[in-house]
Parts: sequence; structure tokens; C-alpha cells
Amino acid sequence: MFIIKKERNGKDYYYLRESIREDGKVKAKTIAYLGKTKKEAEKKAKEFKQKIEEGNMEEKTGKKTIENKKITIDELANFCKRKGFVYPTAEIYGGLAGFWDFGPIGSELKKNIKDAWWKYHVHSRDDIVGIDGAIITNPKVWETSGHVENFTDIAVVCKKCKNKFKVDESELKDAVCDKCGGELESKGKFVPMFTTQVGPIEEDSSMAYLRPETAQLIFTDFKLIQDNARLKLPFGIAQIGKSFRNEIAPRNFLFRSREFEQMEIEYFINPDKKEDCPKDAQIDNFELNIYSAEMQEKNQESEKMTIKKALNKKIIALPWHAYWLKTELSWFYELGANPENFRIRQHTKNEKSHYSTDTWDIEYKFPIGWKELQGIADRGTYDLNAHQEKSKKSMEIMDDASGKKILPMVVAEPSLGVERAFMVFMFDAYSTNEKEEVILKLNPKIAPIKAAIFPLVKKDKKLVEIAKDIYKNLRKEWNVLYDQSGSIGRRYARNDEIGTPFCITIDENSIKNKDATIRNRDNGEQKRIKISEIKDTLRKLISGEIEFKNIKN
Ligand code: ATP
Repeated sequence: MFIIKKERNGKDYYYLRESIREDGKVKAKTIAYLGKTKKEAEKKAKEFKQKIEEGNMEEKTGKKTIENKKITIDELANFCKRKGFVYPTAEIYGGLAGFWDFGPIGSELKKNIKDAWWKYHVHSRDDIVGIDGAIITNPKVWETSGHVENFTDIAVVCKKCKNKFKVDESELKDAVCDKCGGELESKGKFVPMFTTQVGPIEEDSSMAYLRPETAQLIFTDFKLIQDNARLKLPFGIAQIGKSFRNEIAPRNFLFRSREFEQMEIEYFINPDKKEDCPKDAQIDNFELNIYSAEMQEKNQESEKMTIKKALNKKIIALPWHAYWLKTELSWFYELGANPENFRIRQHTKNEKSHYSTDTWDIEYKFPIGWKELQGIADRGTYDLNAHQEKSKKSMEIMDDASGKKILPMVVAEPSLGVERAFMVFMFDAYSTNEKEEVILKLNPKIAPIKAAIFPLVKKDKKLVEIAKDIYKNLRKEWNVLYDQSGSIGRRYARNDEIGTPFCITIDENSIKNKDATIRNRDNGEQKRIKISEIKDTLRKLISGEIEFKNIKN
């Protein structure tokens, strides 16, 4: 929008005009009369623009009616493809079941989720360090860990509808088809580890596995890591990386893929100090939605209770385990996930892994029902012990407090799939206004694009120059976007859809006042801020140090 002066019969008249595109041509259209003096015109234009913006916003975003919208997994998959989040891999060749490619927006979101996880679990703590192990390693690792022998599923095919899936051996006799309830035919055991050849000449090459989890290298490298990082119990070792499982029936978009990423921690304690969860961890009053093994066996509903109550009733055995459940749930909540969609479910006797004494899953209410989002197993000393025996290398470390060598135990192994976390954040952020336009309310910390910068009118060189300067300055720190095409409303809507939390618009007043409009995605609210303060304000908004409503005009 811009102000023009017209002279008629020796008198000046001021008008507010706007450039619009009609039939492929750009035309200027008068939208308001602004009076007879420049001062009056500028004042009226400012008020008018503000009203339009607010009006637009209410129209564009339905301001008061933006609500989370429940969508199906297929709807999410379609949206992700349309907006550049996730595509079926190599779709031009028909894709490959269980494999996905992350597009320009999705790869940013995925990276931000991993970075947020690393920051929270590694950089913000004194007791956890990270590693980055190999995807292909010595096969003895998987023999020793029990994966070759125990990491097996039973492949079944429905006799009626031919649906293929896997079942746990313990459930085989009672299981029916999850689609049509038909009788199942067992196709026998299968090991869901992918194999490959290492070495180019067949006779000299050896078989190796693609890792089915990231955790094992934490155990094989345990002594080196503990020594290098001078770790003292209790401590943890974290890792993020690709894992591969030859799932019999990959389905439900990213939920069950054959290639995925995991974010895992092994948290080690002195086995003689199992009850010593630090007092300052403040876990007592944290509320959990608990679905214990007993509740499942008795067909009861899950129950909300504080950690204190769950520990007193011995539903959760160890305070350390409760601590990790709180820590992991808090990570999701702090990044904007809806606590109402989470519960913790204890593994029943039959389903517990070979290594675990107690396992809790964090489950999320996916559109396909409550499903595992993250496993938190107590692995005891199983892994260090097994690798110690097989490799004949001691895994014991010195416990300074007792002056004795001990084999630490893993009191909790939080293991989370990046793609399942990705879906959770997408489902909880996916909102629409009354016009059914999508507003993706991702937390600014994980939003793919932190801010979009627009000149109000792309033909105005001065506005373009200022907007581009701001863009260049901001992109030194964040992934930001410059956009000058289409109406301002359309530019807002485009960014709302991909979760950009803030839009910054440069208009004529920016030239004189050296300020810009900053707009909040979640309610369309707008403020004027000095250009010199944009970076600092944005930093505070992204980190959550200030809320948008606290920005002074
Ligand atoms: P499920 O019972 O769903 O097959 P799991 O119990 O085998 O999962 P874990 O071995 O505990 O899974 O793996 C830890 C985490 O890794 C899971 O909670 C999940 O977030 C993720 N994960 C596991 N398998 C897959 C997969 N095929 N696709 C995507 N994520 C996965």
C-alpha cells in the first residue's frame, strides 16, 4: 500500500492505493481517501493499514477460532508431501515401502527436533555426553547383544484378507488379523536386521548387519567414553543416528519405517545405589497418566497420579525410572506437545525384552490409537556384562565413593524414534481456522523457518532493500525466508501453513521510522518494533524468554 497525492483545482488530495494483480497485469487501486494534508494522510493511512491488517488477520486466521484439528495419518502424509515435509522415497520409480525422503521444510523440522533433543539431554546437563557410532559394525556386537538370537518376530499372513504383519511369539496363539479379524497363518520366525556384504570381492567379503538400534556401541565403547570424558556415576551416554529394521509390514506413514532415526541414552548408576535418585530432581508432584501391567491385566482404564503416589504404591519400582519418565515427558511438553495425548504404559511380563527388568513405554494417542512413542527400559547390567564376557575385556569402572571396581547398571534407556516424535509435533501443531486454513502451531524452537521477511510492495526498491538487509542479517543466525510475491495475506497464509512463527513486514513507515511490523502466527497479533531491535526480540521470542504480547509497540 502507498500514499499518493493528486492535485485538483489547485488543491491537494491524498489517497491510499494498493498494487494488485489482475489478469496477469499489475494495477494500482485506490482503497481510501486520506484527506487534504500530508500529515493527516500519513496518520489516517497508518490507522487504516492497521485496521486492514487486523481485519485481514481475522479473516485470514479466524483469530479467535484457531483450533487443533484431528487428522488421520493419511491426511498428515498428504499434507507433508504437499508442503515439502516428507515424500515417499524416489516416488518417480514407485517408491519403496518403509522408506521416506524429507523435503526442504521437513528436513529442517527433523534437524531442529534432533538439535532440541541434544541440547536438552547433552548440552544442558553435566552428566551426559554424546557419541556418534558406526551404522555397520562388527557382527559380534549383535550376536552378543542377543539381537541375532532374540530380536525375532513371527511373520503372519491373514488367511482371509492376506494382510501381512508381525506378532510377538507369546501372542501368536491368540492373535487374529488386525484388519479383518481373520485366522492367521504363521510364516515362521524372521530376524528383522538387514544384512550387507563388507568388501567388494565376494570371496573375501564378510556379512555384516545394518544396526537395528543405536544403543549397542555405547556399550562396546563404554570404557573409552567413560575414561575420555572422565565420567563419574551416575552418568549417561547419548546418541542420535539411523537404525534399520526389515519390518514385515511398514505402514502408517513414518510410524513404522524400515529406515528411521533414534535418539537414545544409556543412563548408568551404581547397582548398589538404585534408590539414590537425586533429591533435587523434584519428581514427586509431576503428574503421569499411568497404565500399569496390572491395570492392563485387569482390563482397567489408565489412571492419572503423581510420581510420589506411583512410587508409594510400588507401581513404578525405582525413583530413577520415574525420573526418566518425567524428564522425557517434559521434553515433549516444553516443545509444545499436548500432555492430554500422552500416557505411560508398563510392559506386561510376556512382552518385556530379554534384557529388561522393568520397561515403560511413553505412548501417544495417534489417530490409530495409543501407540508406543518411546521405550524406557531398565536394562540392568545385561549389556555390559554380555560384552565383557564375550570380548574378555573388563567393563568395570572405579567407583570413587566406595573405592571399589563395579559394573554399572543401566537404570533407564530412553529410546525415541525421531520420526515418531516428528509425527507427534505435527499432530499437536496442526490447527485450522474457521476457513479451514492450516496454521501449524509448531514451537518456535523447532519451527523449520523462524521468521519470514516481506517488503509490503515488491516494486518499491527502498522497501525491498530494507527487507533484504533484515533478511541477510537474520539468516546469519536462523533459517529465515524472504518473500515478496503475492498479497500480504497470501504470504502470511503460506507461512502459517509451514509453521513460521513470526512474519516481519516493511512498509512506507519503515523508511521514516526505521521500524517494521512483526506478526504472531498463533493469533495474528501485530506490533511495531524498531528494525535495530528485531534480532534481539526474535532471539527472545524463539527461546521463550518473552511472549509476543510482552513486546512493546
Ligand atoms: P514397536 O513395538 O512399535 O515395533 P519397538 O518396541 O520394537 O517398537 P524399540 O526397539 O523400543 O521399538 O525402539 C525404540 C523406539 O524407536 C520406538 O519407541 C520408536 O520410537 C522407534 N522405532 C522402533 N521401530 C521403529 C520403526 N520401524 N519405525 C519408526 N520408528 C521406530
